[in-house]
Order: sequence, then structure tokens, then C-alpha cells
Amino acid sequence: MSFCQRLARLLLLCLLPASVLAQTKGIPEWCKPLPRPEYRALLRMPVSDPWFEVYKVAPETFAIYEPHQAEETISYLIVGTKQAVIFDTGMGIGSISKVTRQLTAKPVVVLNSHTHNDHVGGNSEFMFVYGMDTDFTRKNARGSRADAQAEIAPDQICGNLPAGFNRKTYMTKPWKISRSAQDGFTINLGGRKLEIIATPGHTPDSIALIDRANGLLFTGDTYYPAPIWLYRPETDMDAYVASAKRLAALAPQVKMVLGAHNIPVAQPDELPKLVDAIQAVRAGKGDVKAAGTGKAMHTFEGFKFLLAEPAKGLD
Ligand SMILES: [Zn+2]
Repeated sequence: MSFCQRLARLLLLCLLPASVLAQTKGIPEWCKPLPRPEYRALLRMPVSDPWFEVYKVAPETFAIYEPHQAEETISYLIVGTKQAVIFDTGMGIGSISKVTRQLTAKPVVVLNSHTHNDHVGGNSEFMFVYGMDTDFTRKNARGSRADAQAEIAPDQICGNLPAGFNRKTYMTKPWKISRSAQDGFTINLGGRKLEIIATPGHTPDSIALIDRANGLLFTGDTYYPAPIWLYRPETDMDAYVASAKRLAALAPQVKMVLGAHNIPVAQPDELPKLVDAIQAVRAGKGDVKAAGTGKAMHTFEGFKFLLAEPAKGLD
């Protein structure tokens, strides 16, 4: 072996571990602990698109989870004997209507927990979309591009984007509001009723859905078992606390709380604890850490809230 060959071999040995290291380094931090252990106890349903994972969380109730994007958004398909509701339509990165067609043959109408782009991405794939009667909802229904593009940055994606996905043209597509809905509005799915509970705060158009007969409360971004984001300009902290109290008052009537990010199933007794935690944080209690420009993570007894800094409503 010549000196050059020996040198080339040595260089190759040095380079190989470096490239392996680079690959490990390339995995975003949030992606490393996935899959979350809570999913082991849930019944997974087979669907053809690997972008989505579907779990049956109650009879005729499916959590449609997007684990490959940092939001880890969860939409819910809630099926009755005549029709179904899709409560949120996810990121719009994979086709969620193809998933719902694999789960039910009934007509599917859309309700959104709120109209942040990570919950309305697939709205345009459906014929009928309810919208809350707010300017925020109407503005978002026009679609947008900047947030969607930021959400496919390399540090936001874990694993592969769907086959055929076009990075350049990706945006939150506009959709048409078919009919407006309001607090107390009830949708009859056939043998199953869902009632809208307006929960403004995270956004002006935030809602929860309650299935009283089955004890299910779908809480959107008002509550999910992970850091709750309350830093955007459209967030109203006084309204948020009032809405959290409204949900907490329902806790004795429900068996399961289903939020819109990270983990689909939580216990109802988390809701009164949520009220205590956000009120404690607003009173200046708990731990505070800077979390990027203009934001701070507040922690109190297991709850985390990402708030605007200086925190809105702290006085
Ligand atoms: Zn949101």
C-alpha cells in the first residue's frame, strides 16, 4: 500500500464517524424522545399514509396525530350513525381527507378548535366547514404562507415529509366558511351529539367540543398535556382564564379530556389544576425561563405556559 493509499484510508476512517455524528446531530431535540410512551396504551389503527398515526381513543372516536412535525398536532374524527365531524384538519402537509375516508364512509364536516394554521391545513379538502363568527376566523380563512413555510424548516421535521410533498408551494390553503357556529351550537351526528363551548383566550375563535353522553371533552389548544402557547398577539389572558374555569366546571361530567397537541388523552382532574396553575403564574409564582425573543416559559406544579415577555396580564 502506497503512502497515498494509506493516507486516503486514514482520512476515510476519520471522516466516517464524523458523518455519522453529523447525522445524529441533525435530528431535532424534540424528535429524540419520540415515540411518546403514552401512545403504547392506545389502539393504533392502520392507515396508508405514514405521515399520520391514527389511534382509536373511544368508540367511533379517532385521534389523528402528526408526529413528524414539531407541533405534534392532533385532529379528531368523531363518528355518528349519519355523519362525522373532523375537529381540526392538521398541518396540510399530508392529505387528512384521505385518512378520514379510510376510517369512515359517512360524510365528514369540519369544525376547528381555532384557526391557527396548524389546525386548519386540510380544511380546503372538505366540502363543509363551520366557522366561528369572528374577524380572526374570516382573516385566517383567506389562507397564509409564512407560518406554514416556517413549520417545514429542517429543525421542525422529524423523519420524512410525505412522498410528492412540494416544499416550495406549501402554504395554508384558503377555505370557504360554509356556515357560522356559536357557543351552545349542537351538531347531531346521528345517535351522537356534539355541543360547542366557546373558549376564547388562546385565540378569539377557540372552542371546545363536548360529547356529554360519552363523557368526552375536546379542548383544542386551551388545554393539552404539554407546554401551552399563550404568547401570540391574538391571545387574551383574561379570556383564557375565564375559559379554563368554564372547562374546569365541566370536569365532574367528563371521563376523558382530548387536547390538540402531543398526547391525545388526559384526565379531567387536570382542568381544575390548569386553572390553579395559570392563576398562580399570573400572580408571579413558579419558575420563569427566557424562551426566545419576546417569550418566557413559566412552570408551575407540572404545568408549562409559554407567555409573551413581559408577560401579558402580569401586574
Ligand atoms: Zn393554536
